[in-house]
Amino acid sequence: MAFIDNVKDTITKTGKTAVKKTKDLAAIAKVSADIEETKSLLKAVYIEIGKKYCELFDKESAAPDFTVNVATAENLTEQLEALRTERLTLRGKVKCTACGKAVDNEYIFCPYCGEKLPEPPAPEAPEGDAETEDEDIIDVEFDDEKDDE
Ligand SMILES: [Zn+2]
Repeated sequence: MAFIDNVKDTITKTGKTAVKKTKDLAAIAKVSADIEETKSLLKAVYIEIGKKYCELFDKESAAPDFTVNVATAENLTEQLEALRTERLTLRGKVKCTACGKAVDNEYIFCPYCGEKLPEPPAPEAPEGDAETEDEDIIDVEFDDEKDDE
């Protein structure tokens, strides 16, 4: 009978250990998920701090340790804006300077707020080069008149 009791004990202990290990694994998984969530919240807070810092200081007034970061952020912001404008142009749209909505570049005034829309950029580079050459010729021809103005 002692042998059977021992076997029962062993089975019970093994079962309890398995349950404990499962509980531990679940607890570890939960803590790991909490760690990841906390890390992403912390990252978001740091991003907010960085954005606010860049809003408060430009590259001239930023503390020396941050001037490069602020300048990089400014450059990337300009690059982002240029890329967004390029994409809008490719889609045949312009951004309204008043309400910020993307509007078909056929419109002269914004259909949402009535603001006069910016001119869409010149369509093709080769035409632009040709115009520049023409302007150069005109500049040479009317040099005297231009100096008088
Ligand atoms: Zn508008």
